[in-house]
Parts: sequence; C-alpha cells; structure tokens
Amino acid sequence: MAKYVYDFTEGNKDLKDLLGGKGANLAEMTNLGLPVPPGFTITSEACRHYLAEGAVPDGLEREVSEHLGAMEKRMGKVLGQADDPLLVSVRSGAKFSMPGMMETVLNIGLNDESVHGLAKQAGGNDRFAWDSYRRLIQMFGKTVLDIDGELFEHALDTLKAGRQDTDLDAAELQGLVETFKGIVRDQTGKDFPADPREQMRLAVMAVFDSWNAPRAILYRRQERIPADLGTAVNIVAMVFGNVGNDSGTGVAFTRDPGSGQQGIYGDYLQNAQGEDVVAGIRNTIPLQELERLDKSSYDELLRIMETLENHYRDLCDIEFTIERGKLWMLQTRVGKRTAGAAFRIATQLVDQGLITLDEAVTRVTGDQLVQLMFPRFDSGTEKKKIAKGMNASPGAAVGKVVFSSERAVELADQGEDVILVRRETNPDDLSGMIAARGILTSRGGKTSHAAVVARGMGKTCVCGAEELEVSIAERRFTAPGGVVVKEGDVISIDGTTGEVFLGEVPVVDSAVVEYFEGREPDDDLVRAVDRIMRRADEVRRLGVRANADTADDAARARRFGGEGIGLCRTEHMFLGERRQLVEDLVLASGDEERQAALDALEPLQKADFVEIFRAMDGQPVTVRLIDPPLHEFLPDIVDLSIKAATGETSEKQRDLLAAVKRLHEENPMLGLRGVRLGLVIPGLFAMQVRAIAQAAKEVPGAKPEIMIPLVAAVQELEAVREEAAGILADLGVEALVGTMIETPRAALTAGQVAEAAQFFSFGTNDLTQMTWGFSRDDVEAAFFSRYLELGIFGVSPFETLDRDGVGRLVRIAVEEGRKARPDLKLGICGEHGGDPDSVHFCHEAGLDYVSCSPFRIPVARLEAGRAALAECDSDTR
Ligand code: PEP
Ligand code: MG
Repeated sequence: MAKYVYDFTEGNKDLKDLLGGKGANLAEMTNLGLPVPPGFTITSEACRHYLAEGAVPDGLEREVSEHLGAMEKRMGKVLGQADDPLLVSVRSGAKFSMPGMMETVLNIGLNDESVHGLAKQAGGNDRFAWDSYRRLIQMFGKTVLDIDGELFEHALDTLKAGRQDTDLDAAELQGLVETFKGIVRDQTGKDFPADPREQMRLAVMAVFDSWNAPRAILYRRQERIPADLGTAVNIVAMVFGNVGNDSGTGVAFTRDPGSGQQGIYGDYLQNAQGEDVVAGIRNTIPLQELERLDKSSYDELLRIMETLENHYRDLCDIEFTIERGKLWMLQTRVGKRTAGAAFRIATQLVDQGLITLDEAVTRVTGDQLVQLMFPRFDSGTEKKKIAKGMNASPGAAVGKVVFSSERAVELADQGEDVILVRRETNPDDLSGMIAARGILTSRGGKTSHAAVVARGMGKTCVCGAEELEVSIAERRFTAPGGVVVKEGDVISIDGTTGEVFLGEVPVVDSAVVEYFEGREPDDDLVRAVDRIMRRADEVRRLGVRANADTADDAARARRFGGEGIGLCRTEHMFLGERRQLVEDLVLASGDEERQAALDALEPLQKADFVEIFRAMDGQPVTVRLIDPPLHEFLPDIVDLSIKAATGETSEKQRDLLAAVKRLHEENPMLGLRGVRLGLVIPGLFAMQVRAIAQAAKEVPGAKPEIMIPLVAAVQELEAVREEAAGILADLGVEALVGTMIETPRAALTAGQVAEAAQFFSFGTNDLTQMTWGFSRDDVEAAFFSRYLELGIFGVSPFETLDRDGVGRLVRIAVEEGRKARPDLKLGICGEHGGDPDSVHFCHEAGLDYVSCSPFRIPVARLEAGRAALAECDSDTR
C-alpha cells in the first residue's frame, strides 16, 4: 500500500522527489541529531493525487492521524488542547526551492480556548498567546480562505498607529483577534474554524492548491521547473520566536553566498516569528550580534553550521528559531550563490578535502562561467532605462549612437566608441558591427543576423527592441515616453539583460576573459576557474571547435581552447570590395563572363583561407561553401528602385535592379541557397574548392574539411562531391568532404547521405527552423514571448536544442549515418553548440565535437566535462 506520510526520523536528504527539499532536509537534520522540532511530511505523491483527482488519496487522513498521534504522545500534549495545546505549522516544500511562491500556516491549533492554554504554557504571557492567535487567523485567512491579505494588514496598521508590532499589548492583540475574526466572517460568511484538526486539514489542502497558484506557475516557467511535481507538506511542532526578548528567529549562510568567503553571514530578529524576517517588518540585526544577546545559542548555531557544511559538503542556508534560549533548526538546504562564489566555494571545498576536483567541476555551470566572462555595468550606479529588447549577446557596451556601418567605421577610426543601431542588420553591416562596441536592433530574434554575428564576435547585442522606432533616414530613434536619441548621443546597452539605457553607465572588465586570453591566474576567482577548466578538459570526450571565419576569430578560438574550426562561413568573403565581383557574377551574360568573375574571386578567397589555415596551425578547419541566396550580396532593391524612379541610375544599376527582381524570393530561407546555388551556378563551388585546396597547399600541415550546406538528398551531395573530389585530386590535396545536416530530409535519409559524406555537421539553426516550421528571422520577436508564457516551450528551441523533435532527428541521423559509415565524423555547428543543455545532449547522442562561437568555447569545454562526469556518475549508480 502507498505510504503518504513519513516521520522526520524516516526520511533523508536523498528523498527530495517524495518529501520535497524542506522535508528531506528536516529529516536529514533530525537523523544527524540536530535540534529539529518533531514533525512529519506528507509526500508530493499525495499532492499529485489530490491535484489530479480533486480529493486526497484514500488512507491519507488515517496516516496523518497516526503520525499526529505519535507526535502528541511524544510531546505529551494534544493538538489544540484547551489547557496545554500542541500547536503545529503546516509548510509547503517542493523538490526545487520556490522561495515565497507557496504557502505556510503557523500556529495551527489555536482557538478561543487554547489561546489561554498557550499563555499559561508561556508562564502567563498573554501578549505572546494573543499575538500567535492573530497571526494564525491572518495567515489562515489569507492562505486557506483566500481573503485579501490587505484587509488584515490594514487593520493591523490602524491599530499600530505608527508603533512597532512589539509595542502592542495583550488587550490590543485580543481586540485585533476579534477584528480579524470579523473580517473572516464578512468575507466568507462563516466563522473562523475553531476545530484544530479541521484547521490542519484545510491548511494541508491549501498548500496542495498553492502549487497551482498563478505566481507559482509563473515562477516554475521562469526557472524551468516541471509543472507536474507537486509539493510535499510538512507538519512541524511549533516552536516560538515571539515569546519575548530571549526568543527570536533568523536566517544564516555557512559562508558568504556573494563572494564565497568563509565567515558568519546572516540576520536575526528578536521576539519574532519566521515570516517577520523576510517580510522586513522590523530591521534585523547582523547574526554576529546574537553572540552578545545569547552566547550559548550562538555558539551552538556555529557548531551546527559547521556540522551541516561538513555533512552536505557545500554552502548551506539555514532558518532557525530560538525559544526562550533554546535553539531550534527549522530548515536547511544547499544555498544559492553568485557565479563567482560558485567557483570559489567549489575549489575551497576541494582544498578542505570535502569534495574531489571532479565534484567541483559538477558544482559549477556554463551559465555561471558566462556570467563571469562578460563585462558588466557597475551595479552601484543609477541608470535611466529607455527600452528592453532580447538579450542576444551578453556584455555591457557604451558608445555614441550611429545608424550606418560607414559612420560606425568612421567614428571608430577616430577612436570613438559607438553603438550601431539598425532596424535589423544584414551581411553588409559587418564592417560596422566589427567597428562598434555593441549592436542594437529593433527587429529580429536571437538567431537573427545581428544576434548570430554578434555572439560570434563576442560583441554585446540587444536585438528586437520593438519599442524603439528607428529612423535610419533621420538618424535617430524614439523610445517610449517620447525619448528621442539622435546620432552622436551616448547610450549603454546590456546584452545580458536586454536593457537599453540613456547615457553612459560605467563598465567593469572581466578578469576571467583576460585569463582565457593568456594572463596568468592572479586572483582566487581566476585560479578557481583555471583549476576547474583544466579538469573539465581532462575528462571530456567531446571535442570543442569554433565557428570562426576570420583569422582574428580563429586566433581567439585557439587561445580560448578551441581544437579546430567546425564552421568557417564563407559568405562574408563576398562582401566589401568584392561585392563588385559578385555583381559581375550575377550579371554575367554568358559562360565566359561568369568564369571571369569567378576567376577574379578565386585568389581573394584563397588568401582568406591561407590566413585561417595559418592561424589554426595544423588544426582542422571545416570550410562551408557559400550558403545564403545570391541576392543578399546585391544592393538594396529599395535604393535601386528609388534611383531608377528618379532617373539617377546607370545602365549597370538598371541591370542590377532587374537581377535583384529576378532573384527575389518570397521565402529566401527555403529558396535558392546552399547546395542548390552551387548546382545552379556552374563553377561557383568549384572556385571555392580550388581556393581551399590551393591555400592548403601553401600552408604546411593545413587540414581542410569541405562542407556542403543545405543538402536534402544524397543526389545533391553526390553531384557536388564528384566535382570537388576531382579538383582535390588534380591539385593533390587531401581533404574530407562532408555535409551539413540541416534539413529534416537529410536527417531522415542519413543512411543514404552518409554514403557520400565523410562527416556530418548538424546545422541546428536551420534544422530547428525547418523542423518547427519557424522562420528563424521572424518568430522570436513575433510570438515567442507568448509561447513561453503559455508554456508551449520553456525556452526558445533556437537557444536550447529541442531534444524531443530536433534531437530525435539528430539521433536518427547519428544512428543511421554511423551504420552506413562507421568512421563518420559527427559534429554540430548551429548556435546550440555553445548552449549548456545542448552540449549535454550532444555528448549523450555520441557526437564527436561541438562547434560554437569563440567566446562560448570555455562554456562548451566546461559543459562537455560536466556531461562526461554525469555519465560516469550514472554508470556507477
Ligand atoms: C545552421 O543552420 O545551424 C548553421 C550553422 O548554418 P547558418 O546559421 O549559417 O544557416
Ligand atoms: Mg544553416
């Protein structure tokens, strides 16, 4: 038969699924012999049953009765007994901590009779008894009876009339109890329930119900906590911090959660009950001052804190109450901490011999590392926020606003810091993006051009700030409230939060990035990062490569620990001065003209590859042949049309306009791009392959890999591969030829595709786009926030790989690809390659490497190490 109730002596810290965090840890502390009030836990399974069926499971009431009976026997008191009452608290406690999201009711068991018994127990302390009673009605009224808490607050404030709550005397509090009972009657049409068992029963159900309160639902979505876990409920014998000045309540951390330093951190409030500390009704005092007030409780608390740290082998946070000089532990858990503290604490614990270095690696996360890698705005300064967009590429950037790439380059050349503001960017903006400190767009999502390129460069970017009206022509934008920002005005953008500020906000640089750039570790945070990264590198199975297409990016990738380039996009190599040649290519009227344009491009491409091969010094470089549709490289259709309308065009421009119109596509992302372009424009891919091969010949040790984009059928690949193989053979160059898997059809026919490919690289940006049918440039700004709100997904599938859908395609392709070609090399080069959860997926799916932007390489290395350790852990379990 199912067991729904566990005494604190029966549970332990590993039963969080069943007993919730609070219950499991109260049991653990009980078993450690620490002073925990007696109590028991109703399991989350009972809650799940209640939420599904609308009624508590059979047998629950009997079990609760038995445990309560045992508790009463142990305490020598009966719940709510008139002359000597046992009182209990009913506290929520889910598996994952959801601070303040769910309900707690204290002082259950009080009524018009037992309030006198409580006063007697406390040596005739009437004030304390009435204070406890009014708290019960207030909490019960709000939580269980769903009465607006303001009504109680207002009555209390009126009575206090500017005094502290501790200034109220017994008679006043007794009057307040009557007022509160009146509120209950008015609001519910019924009397406050006097029966202690009924109070407890209703409170338990209210805690169950609070799992589905709107704020709890919202919090779970934000924190990605599954919606179906339910909460456990703890019933704990009351101890009182509000009996007088020899009593009180407090919270403490076993070390500083901000910095990780060891020491005493916490707050204490005299003559108060639990919720008063967090509610901030009176000013707390630093925990150290408890030593002066009650030395023996203080010393005992320190001893317990040490016991807990040694036992949990981690920073713990604690809630405690002192009742007339006797210390009671009401809660502990492994405490939250800042990113810097996480790294410091993990290595401190290794030094203390409490954990191994492998455990230290598992105690920190890639997300925490990212937080340490970006410059930050100084938190102490006042800021004027004018808009919020998407946090597309983290960091903090300050500069003068410019609206064109040319202006960005011009001002940057003069030594100015600039922020490039555009409605959206396109490949033409690259020079401006490179010159700018940060990029702000009013359109586009996290995989928009601006976002992808900025992340690649490690440049701060806020995209899709739709509140901004950007007028490129007038060189200004308007923010809500009529704030107008003109070219040259200074703004500050926070790519970590998506916020945009008017004026200059001071920025602090990251010491961790300086370390990855090669500086010797010279402070304890950087030393901690260094130790953990070294171990992650030793244990990881996944290789880590970079998405890089310039020599600078390639060099940074190596400094950051990259082991090759997994994606060298070749499209930027067709921009700038070379645009002219692309125009010639498009306008070519015959084979000869086209070949001439290609011949002119070839040496330029070769020079690009030579630089990259040199920078990578013998590490593999996967070069992807040109992918975007050709018209992206032509002038803007609007500009050309305006010129044509005003008669300002040359013959060439008129031809260009005709070409742009001819090439125009309704869905360019699904149109003539990638391998399709290579098959339609004779000589285009051949030129690129020749340039790669010739560059490889020139750089000793170069390891080129040629990658074909957007393949959907093996026949496409075969056609291109044959030509490429011929060129490589002619030039005597060895290079792997492989394909991206970025269409669902390629994944589903991976067995066939692998016959013609020596490697697969999953292009999960396009694969996500095509699997979901989401236009990657539009949907994030258009409706993702609504989808997140509705819980359709907990995180954008462009950010974290969708394991169920896209992941399934990846697994199919891995399995069938390897079956057809056992030595098939497998990687990923979509944006997911630098996302922590997706890196774990790639490890589990058996890929050989992930490839991500240079700045994400350390994150990928760390997460790959953590994934390997997680696997060892589950192997030994
Ligand atoms: C992809 O689609 O995942 C990919 C890496 O290619 P791109 O982003 O250049 O389309
Ligand atoms: Mg792609």
